Amino acid sequence: MAALSFRNVIKRYGHGAKANQVIHGVSAEIADREFIVIVGPSGCGKSTLLRMVAGLEEVSAGEIAIGKRVVNQLEPAERDIAMVFQNYALYPHMSVFQNMAYGLKIAKVPVDEIKTRVDKAAKILELGHLLERKPRELSGGQRQRVAMGRAIVRQPQVFLFDEPLSNLDAKLRAQTRLEIQKLHRELGITSLFVTHDQVEAMTLAQRIIVMNAGVMDQFGTPEEVYARP
Ligand code: ADP
Ligand code: ADP
Repeated sequence: MAALSFRNVIKRYGHGAKANQVIHGVSAEIADREFIVIVGPSGCGKSTLLRMVAGLEEVSAGEIAIGKRVVNQLEPAERDIAMVFQNYALYPHMSVFQNMAYGLKIAKVPVDEIKTRVDKAAKILELGHLLERKPRELSGGQRQRVAMGRAIVRQPQVFLFDEPLSNLDAKLRAQTRLEIQKLHRELGITSLFVTHDQVEAMTLAQRIIVMNAGVMDQFGTPEEVYARP
C-alpha cells in the first residue's frame, strides 16, 4: 500500500468565472519511506500540491490519501504530517526545548513522552547541548535544525518540505542537505521535498516528480529524469 497517494487531484483557485485551475489531474503513488523531490518552474503548482497534502488548501476534485485514509476533508491537525518551511519561525521567547516541545504540549502528549521525543530528536540533530538556549543565541544552521526538530518530534507519517534550504548560504545549504539525508536514513519518514535546485533534487531524491504548468510531466529516478538522450 502506498504511503501517500494522489488520485486525479485537481485544484482551482477562485470561483465561477474567475476560477483558475492550476493543478490538472495529478496522480501518483508514493511508497512508504520514499523520499520524493518535486521540481519545476516557478508557478507550476509545487507549493499548491504540498499545501493540499498539509490541508492548508482544499482539493477541488480527486483524492489525497495518507496510508488508507483519504485526508481531503480532515483538518491540518488531524493529518499525520509535519511541514518545514523556508521561513522557520521559532518562538523567540521560548528555549530550544520549549520550541521543540510546543506542538506536543498542545497535542496533550504526556510530559515524559515529550521529553523522550525531544531528547531523541536533539541527539539526531546535534542540539543536545543547546536545549536551554533562546533562538537569538543560535546560528542560522542551528535554528534550521530546531525547526526540523520541531517537525520530527511529532513522528509524522509524512514529512513535507517547502524549499527549506532556499534562504541559506551555499555552505549551510550543503550542510543542511546532509542533515536531511541523515534524518531520512535514521527515521525513514516518507517525504515530499519541493525545490528548484537540481543539485538538491539529484542528491536527495529517490524519485523525482517534474511538474510543469499544473501537470506531472515526469515521475522517475534521478537517472531517468536527468538522463541525456
Ligand atoms: P510553485 O510552488 O510551483 O511556484 P504555486 O503552487 O505557488 O507554484 O502556484 C501555482 C499557480 O497557482 C500559480 O499560477 C499561482 O499564481 C497560483 N496561486 C498560488 N496560490 C494562489 C492563491 N492563494 N490564490 C490564487 N492563485 C494562487
Ligand atoms: P507548529 O510548529 O507546532 O505547527 P505553529 O507555528 O503552527 O506551530 O503554531 C501553533 C500555534 O501556536 C498557533 O495557534 C499559533 O497561533 C500559536 N503561536 C504562534 N506564535 C506563538 C508564540 N510566539 N507563542 C505561543 N504561541 C504561538
